[in-house]
Amino acid sequence: MRMYDVILKKRNGGTLSDEEIRFFIDGYVRGEIPDYQAAALCMAIYYQGMNEQETVVLTDAMARSGETVDLSRFGTLSVDKHSTGGVGDKVSLIVAPIVASLGGKVTKMSGRGLGHTGGTVDKLESIPGMRVTMSREEFLEQAERIGLVIIGQSGNMTPADKKLYALRDVTATVDSIPLITSSIMSKKLASGSHSIVLDVKVGSGAFMKTPDDARVLAENMVKIGKSCGRRMAALMTDMDRPLGHAVGNALEIMEAIDVLRGRSKGDLYEVCVAMATEMVMLFKEIPHAQAQALVTDAIDSGIAFEKMKEWVAAQGGDADYIEHPERFHQADVREAVISPADGYITHMDTAAIGSCAVILGAGRATKDAPIDYSAGIIISKKTGDRVRKGEPIAYLHTNDPDAVSSAAERYIGALTIGAAQPLPVALIHGIIR
Ligand code: URA
Repeated sequence: MRMYDVILKKRNGGTLSDEEIRFFIDGYVRGEIPDYQAAALCMAIYYQGMNEQETVVLTDAMARSGETVDLSRFGTLSVDKHSTGGVGDKVSLIVAPIVASLGGKVTKMSGRGLGHTGGTVDKLESIPGMRVTMSREEFLEQAERIGLVIIGQSGNMTPADKKLYALRDVTATVDSIPLITSSIMSKKLASGSHSIVLDVKVGSGAFMKTPDDARVLAENMVKIGKSCGRRMAALMTDMDRPLGHAVGNALEIMEAIDVLRGRSKGDLYEVCVAMATEMVMLFKEIPHAQAQALVTDAIDSGIAFEKMKEWVAAQGGDADYIEHPERFHQADVREAVISPADGYITHMDTAAIGSCAVILGAGRATKDAPIDYSAGIIISKKTGDRVRKGEPIAYLHTNDPDAVSSAAERYIGALTIGAAQPLPVALIHGIIR
């Protein structure tokens, strides 16, 4: 078989056979197929698409390209979630303890911040002592003992995705539905959970800008997961404004603690309850109303919060910070952003707000740059809120005084303020089961 013929067939709109797809992935991972041919195939897929069978085989080949985790010892109790990424998205930190406190086995491999979006692993590392790497044996032992473990992605899982994602990033082939589907689902399938709930973000801070695109992506991923024998659900949730009020690592941990303590019941709480409910429905095989009641009880009774402390301690973190979040180091500079006008916030360019947090130090300027865990933004006014000229609408937290003016400018530039209150936007755009 020749890679040239595989590229030509897809370029001309043909359907690739299972053998051709596996030939490409195996050869690319082994270094026998060069980047330029892989890039040409990605571009052909970008334009010609892939049918369901092709996408299933591509996902399977990528999932099997490296090590996989065997969670069969947990039967149907293992459950995972995945977000396509957003700003202020600390949902994993909240739903994982909720679901584990209800008997699920949540074993998750999470990412670091990427571009304007934050990453769960960076957030966890803002807790002093918290370890996000461990051996396979420790990982499984912790899952067995407390039902919850979240670590960074291990070096030898889905190498095909690692290579392909980096290639797509520089060849303008990221936003292709079959390529995103296979990238995300290969990682989820390799991680081994029996049930998987996807949070497909929609809006100015998300990868998918419209509900229609998000639906196609969500439906594709659910179909692929089911065809590989997993229980699946996907929520499409709003990312046209940041989720919750905190953006930045330690600030988001503190907000997650508030939700788990039942002290915050806004948009973040709602998305977390919806996500956790889907996860509980799948692993317990119970109806929606029953699962939702269990989830809200887990918060109200404090068992989810206790699970969070147990989890942090199990991974070497100082659980006293969870009990006393005032112990988290506060940034030296806390500067108010002042509303430039009277009116209503009618739109928030959420990606720009994410990049404002990066300027303050909450994300990485370059791949290996350090993170300032205390940096970020506390947002007091969001889309739909009335604002008055001269009043504080957000607070910038940083240890870099030089960053403040450009961050404030970026923040103000991300807002549209108009005279009329915008119509409320749905927080959950749809659920696919
Ligand atoms: N996230 C992924 O992991 N892969 C993609 O292709 C896009 C978002």
